[in-house]
Amino acid sequence: MLPWVVRRTRLPLLSLRCVDCRSESATPGKGRFRVNANGKLLDVWLLVRCVSCDRTSKLTVHERAPVTSFDPAELHGYRVNDPELVVSRLLDPLLARRNRFVLDWTGAWRLDIRSAWSDEAWPVRVEVVFEDPVPVRPERLLAQGLGISRNEVLRRIKCDIPLRRTTSTGFTFTAMAEDWELFKVRILVRAGRGW
Ligand SMILES: [Zn+2]
Repeated sequence: MLPWVVRRTRLPLLSLRCVDCRSESATPGKGRFRVNANGKLLDVWLLVRCVSCDRTSKLTVHERAPVTSFDPAELHGYRVNDPELVVSRLLDPLLARRNRFVLDWTGAWRLDIRSAWSDEAWPVRVEVVFEDPVPVRPERLLAQGLGISRNEVLRRIKCDIPLRRTTSTGFTFTAMAEDWELFKVRILVRAGRGW
């Protein structure tokens, strides 16, 4: 079975408080850097805009770093706003820590399932791969992917990580077939107890 893949569909927004309007959402737009030379030292910022008032903020990528410490290709990437460099810097946890924001992934990712789920023989073992570090709760992701309720996920899934803890690294799980006999017994037990 092919793996399930979690991947980015666009750049995520940032939960970052605007100093002007107090809104807490900023967008990197298409991704733009600003490089400022001060003698032999360089500052590099990633520019983001408040989604409410359009105010631009600068996120520090490099601060007073010697020009000689830069790989020429990297420096060129900053000057031409290389999209891959934008992604790698924006998703770097170090940038978030340094500039005190968290990424807001709402609506910025999708789950790709590349094989027909229902035709598989039970139990089914699936690997979930993260192409981008999107934080997801396995419980929700599996409910979505399998088209079953979260309660059912907790009952039918065996997983190598806790289902309720947010993760953005790969994991595998095994989905068990619904056990009808057990289900019937449960119903009878409930009935017997007067539930
Ligand atoms: Zn604002």
